[in-house]
Amino acid sequence: MDNTFLIDSRDLPFCKGCGHSSVAQMTEKALAKLGYHPLDVIMVTDIGCHGIIDKSLRTHTVHGLHGRSVAIAGGIAHGLGKKSGKKVIVFLGDGGATIGLQHILIAAHHNFPMTVVVHNNMLYGMTGGQPSEYTPDGFNTPTAPNRSSAGSLDIVQLAEAAGAGYVSRVAGIGDFSAEMAEAIAYEGFSLVEVMEICPSYGVKSNPGMKLRQLMDETGYLATKKVKTPIHADHPAYEGYNQSLISDKLLVEQLFTHRMTKPTVRILLAGSAGEGTQSAAEFLARVAMCNGLQASKKGHYPVTVGVGFSAAEVILSTGTIYYSGGTKPDFMLITSADGLDYARPHLAQAESSATVLIDESLPLPETKAKLIQLPLRAAAGVRNAAMMSIFRWADVSQLLDSQSFIDEYQRGKLAAKVPVETFSAK
Ligand code: SF4
Repeated sequence: MDNTFLIDSRDLPFCKGCGHSSVAQMTEKALAKLGYHPLDVIMVTDIGCHGIIDKSLRTHTVHGLHGRSVAIAGGIAHGLGKKSGKKVIVFLGDGGATIGLQHILIAAHHNFPMTVVVHNNMLYGMTGGQPSEYTPDGFNTPTAPNRSSAGSLDIVQLAEAAGAGYVSRVAGIGDFSAEMAEAIAYEGFSLVEVMEICPSYGVKSNPGMKLRQLMDETGYLATKKVKTPIHADHPAYEGYNQSLISDKLLVEQLFTHRMTKPTVRILLAGSAGEGTQSAAEFLARVAMCNGLQASKKGHYPVTVGVGFSAAEVILSTGTIYYSGGTKPDFMLITSADGLDYARPHLAQAESSATVLIDESLPLPETKAKLIQLPLRAAAGVRNAAMMSIFRWADVSQLLDSQSFIDEYQRGKLAAKVPVETFSAK
């Protein structure tokens, strides 16, 4: 892999003449000047035209919800810490900076080590040209053709007031890579507002208006304020250089699995309040104790206290790149809610699949092998999901049986419900 950050800087996805192309190219030039390798850069983009740059980047990319990119980047920057050698950069538009203003202020206030690049073309380009809070008086847009308001916000002043160590505003014309490099190199939080005019909506609504003239007339002047950065060794950054993953969550391999297929998928389907999610997490941890990779994904209604509760667990001998499930190899159904949830999977199941189902439930139509078990009655409904995991262990024989007992004894539930509760009767 060479050191270019953009896949093809001559073929960026924006309208002809859009300033977003310049911002991407100047960011690439700045990163190259600073000696960053593409894989040491995490680009977090927002909703808006600028955000479609993702597919043109050769860095790590994360695409956030509208206005939330700074919050996502703040978490990444905090987790990586100042000494990681990685660089977190946020791209967002003036629309995103309107919707997500609080996130910008908080990130500046906490001095998260990242650079926020606000593409301010003074309107929402992706949705047809609505004004944002950074649209100056006198700048018309298609939906506000004779704009006159109470004035616009100044993101540079706001970020500075919140504590940002580095803020600047530049005109997105010509080569502004030196200004971008200075902001990116800053140790701590930095923000650059790049002024642009959207050719598709801004130019058409303001014929003849030039960017520099607009900046002069509206007071959006190029500016820069820099404070002495806080060094990475400063006590204020103590927590920033530690992993966000607690040592308590580490799982040691103590057993050996017996899986012959590369991947096994298990669907747990039960009711809220009956331990489905905890049982699925337990299974994932047991699998890791046996040297497997595991993922767990929960499904439940927004009203988490009622209705179905389901979880997909994937066990794999290799890396799991996608945690979405296709056809489960096993289904563990512990309640009527769970049975309703699992019906589409049961209908599509092959004869190679196995279903463990509580004996109180009607047997569904399926090609899968059905095994009726006393999951609810044997250990109480609140432990039905955990009971299904122990019975799955017996049926599948894929993981070491002692690993289930040991991992269970390490958990909090063991103090309330002894492991013997789950022994095969
Ligand atoms: S609509 Fe405007 S902001 Fe969006 S890509 Fe086209 S020129 Fe750029």
